[in-house]
Amino acid sequence: MKSKMKAQLFYGPKDIRFEDIDMPIIGSDEVLVKIKSALTCGSDLKTYKRGHPTMIKKASVFGHEWAGDIVEAGCEVDGFKVGDRVTAANSVPCFNCYYCKIGRYSLCENIKYNNGAYAEYIKIPSDILRKNTYKIPDDIGYREAALLEPLACVVHGIEESCIKAGDKIAINGAGPIGLMFIAVARLKGATVISLDLSDERLEYARHFGADYTINVKKVDDQIKAVKNLTEGGRGVDVAIDATGIPRVWEMAIFMGRKGAIINLFGGCMPDTSINIDTGLVHYSELTVKGVYHHTPSHVKQSFDLITSKRINVSNFITADIPLEKLITALELMDQQKGIKYNIVASPL
Ligand SMILES: [Zn+2]
Ligand SMILES: [Zn+2]
Repeated sequence: MKSKMKAQLFYGPKDIRFEDIDMPIIGSDEVLVKIKSALTCGSDLKTYKRGHPTMIKKASVFGHEWAGDIVEAGCEVDGFKVGDRVTAANSVPCFNCYYCKIGRYSLCENIKYNNGAYAEYIKIPSDILRKNTYKIPDDIGYREAALLEPLACVVHGIEESCIKAGDKIAINGAGPIGLMFIAVARLKGATVISLDLSDERLEYARHFGADYTINVKKVDDQIKAVKNLTEGGRGVDVAIDATGIPRVWEMAIFMGRKGAIINLFGGCMPDTSINIDTGLVHYSELTVKGVYHHTPSHVKQSFDLITSKRINVSNFITADIPLEKLITALELMDQQKGIKYNIVASPL
């Protein structure tokens, strides 16, 4: 095994460098994976543009959605071997803290993350290997399998939205996460209204099954536009935010009917806040909730969704881009071009 590998390192906002770094060294209960596919994520773009609270070291590996081949396995590894095609979640809860004990794994106080997909190799720590790693079936490609993590977040978001067949729902934002919400909500039997400010993205939204699309730049009042699409103008059963913009959070709250669930899924900038009409929440009995990340059960459901091919996951991937050109992919995302990019270190 060689001692150095290529990786994209995050040094600070707008400062990402392509360098040679030491290969990860695995312990006896860990494996080393050669990455075959790493997908760009909205959070990587956020990191690129404004930094990330967990990346305060001088140079950090990043990227967290990936699939690849095990090329080295420690002597104590059980259930995985060299040559296995695998994909894994980017974190694992501790199963021991207060929140894990009450089954709220996404709130785990000792959650462990594993980043570094924008590189030639990544190590899977033992607890992620045991709890959140899956072997990829032969008929599923690496790039499809790499969708495991973001889709797990969306599966979590859908579960918390309590969508029932026949519900009419509004999904604000048609970026990668909004589009995955559309696809999974459709599987649940919902009628979907998708809102975005890009016609290109709304075209994708229709492709993934949105029944109605609203370009928010082309309507005076997007709340009214949503309500007009519901019976008697009463509002939707479920309104979801997948933009992470406080103003959109506020509008999502107004899109719901009485008794609606409002899922404020998109994470906003730190230290932002919103205004809520107290009377509306009270008299309309709204449920307004935040949803974060995923749990091992959502990762499993995501894996099953991918392998069952009930969603055509390859449609979420716009193009392949070589590892050395990662910044190009992030810039394209910033211009809201395409959905996700598949970053490849070596020829597939
Ligand atoms: Zn992600
Ligand atoms: Zn925990």
